[in-house]
Amino acid sequence: MAIIGKLACDSCGLEIENEGLKVFWLDFSGELRISSQTRITMINFYDNTLLRGYLSKRYCSHCRNHVNTYRLDNCGEGYDMKRACNLLKLLIKGYKVDPVGLRDHLYGGEGFFLKPKDGLDMKKDKESFDVIGLTDYDLTLDGRKIDKDTCPNCGGGIDFLTDGSPCPRCSCNLHGVRRKFLD
Ligand SMILES: [Zn+2]
Ligand SMILES: [Zn+2]
Repeated sequence: MAIIGKLACDSCGLEIENEGLKVFWLDFSGELRISSQTRITMINFYDNTLLRGYLSKRYCSHCRNHVNTYRLDNCGEGYDMKRACNLLKLLIKGYKVDPVGLRDHLYGGEGFFLKPKDGLDMKKDKESFDVIGLTDYDLTLDGRKIDKDTCPNCGGGIDFLTDGSPCPRCSCNLHGVRRKFLD
């Protein structure tokens, strides 16, 4: 079950989707999928044993940027987290990958060269930073290690936006508006 609500600012009128924790997975065409945790989604999620994990969307109120943290699931014995992490970096950057031979690659096989497919989706209008959450630190897409739960841009603490958080636009307090249950 997913709770989707909105946060709104009475002062400047900003409205933000508040979707909580999301999930991501590599689908059969070699693309990264991101979705809320509905029942249907979770069936796809657990069916996929090549690459999957949780995505938390948080906010840095110091430099006013959104920070997306991807945490990979370990998909069983022999699963190569380092290779999965390198693959995830490409997928977050917008590459598709060729799924042929990928299972073998991610479970420690030799002789598979990871090929990105179809070029890069050049979305540069993003107002957010992406990091990969590891056990002891977080990793930026250009390979920088940063402290967990900190902003890759300014080093400040990041948190989920909730009822009472400062508005990203004007710093007045946000409040929750609607809640609906998706399933
Ligand atoms: Zn920041
Ligand atoms: Zn505001």
